[in-house]
Amino acid sequence: MNNHYLSSVNKEFDHQMIKFLLTQAKEFNVPIISDEGINLLIQLIKISSSKKILEIGTAIGYSSILMALFSDAIITTIERDEKMVVLAKNNIKKANLTSRVTLIQGDGRDISLEDNDYDILFIDAAKAAYIDLFEKFSKNVKTGGIIICDNLLFKGQVENPDIIESRNRRQLVKKIDKFNQYLVNNSNFNTYIYGIGDGISISIKK
Ligand code: SAH
Ligand code: MG
Repeated sequence: MNNHYLSSVNKEFDHQMIKFLLTQAKEFNVPIISDEGINLLIQLIKISSSKKILEIGTAIGYSSILMALFSDAIITTIERDEKMVVLAKNNIKKANLTSRVTLIQGDGRDISLEDNDYDILFIDAAKAAYIDLFEKFSKNVKTGGIIICDNLLFKGQVENPDIIESRNRRQLVKKIDKFNQYLVNNSNFNTYIYGIGDGISISIKK
């Protein structure tokens, strides 16, 4: 949701590195997480005292760098796009976060991680792969841990697929709806989908 009053009353990030990342995201047309979304994520990390986070979908590193800047968690983040990997690596270095943010290059569907003690999993990758990514990486989250997924409303299009002209887009939006249904009906997690940012789910692993 984009509320002008809240945008004016809430504080913006006052940080040079963040301003640089916002400009770079625009320049490369990268869909970074909303202000609401990243603030929610940071507060969840703090409320849950989370120390170990796994992210799927780094892009330029905006969300992982902000999570690292505003908490003391360590972050592993996975990105498949070579060009994004180069940008993100540079940004992580520039932010002096190489000791706390580890970037793994590759498609999340091909990568397996050994650790099973992640406090938080943040899925923000290709929407068509969400069920696979959730099934796979939720296994790496500890009991009581949190899984957060972004873009579950896809700019309002998920609730209204019939008005979408592009067939590909319509298929994609149907996949997101399928994921949302899968998620709320998955009895191994307590899930609620919020209308925050572009639609964000919070699931707690039972
Ligand atoms: N989390 C970032 C934005 C990520 S945009 C932020 O808020 O700052 C989504 C990114 O996920 C893109 O860079 C895309 O290349 C990557 N991606 C999509 N599907 C993926 C997959 N299956 N494995 C790894 N990365 C993926
Ligand atoms: Mg997103």
